[in-house]
Amino acid sequence: MENTDETAAHRLTITVDGVDLPVDEDVRQVLLENLRTEFRDLLVKNHGVEVDQDDVTVATGYRYVQVAAECPLCGERLDLLSVHLDNENGAYASARCSDEDCEWSGDAVYRIIDLEGGESNAIESSVLTGDITPSYDPY
Ligand SMILES: [Zn+2]
Repeated sequence: MENTDETAAHRLTITVDGVDLPVDEDVRQVLLENLRTEFRDLLVKNHGVEVDQDDVTVATGYRYVQVAAECPLCGERLDLLSVHLDNENGAYASARCSDEDCEWSGDAVYRIIDLEGGESNAIESSVLTGDITPSYDPY
């Protein structure tokens, strides 16, 4: 990930609110799994977009962005050097590996997002150096 635009271009998020999903957990899981397969097939067959089945995630509930706290080179803990709030609902932070023999350092831009009413093209977080890929987890 070289820049924040690229983060957005490589991830597609579709949000569906107000759905009464099956209460039975097994039935719900089958429905989600079917959606995953059908959505992937739709992208490939109808739109010519190549997507691996493993890259499609269908999940219920909200999700948050997490950036790894370990160095991408050696796995040691990262130290946050500075955090600066910006003027647009976000912050800029630099990090450095805590291992004295490791040279890794990086920067990240964070955006605080209101999931209920956020902009559709908002980017939650991006590690500017491209070494760390943010992960998206349910909460
Ligand atoms: Zn390191």
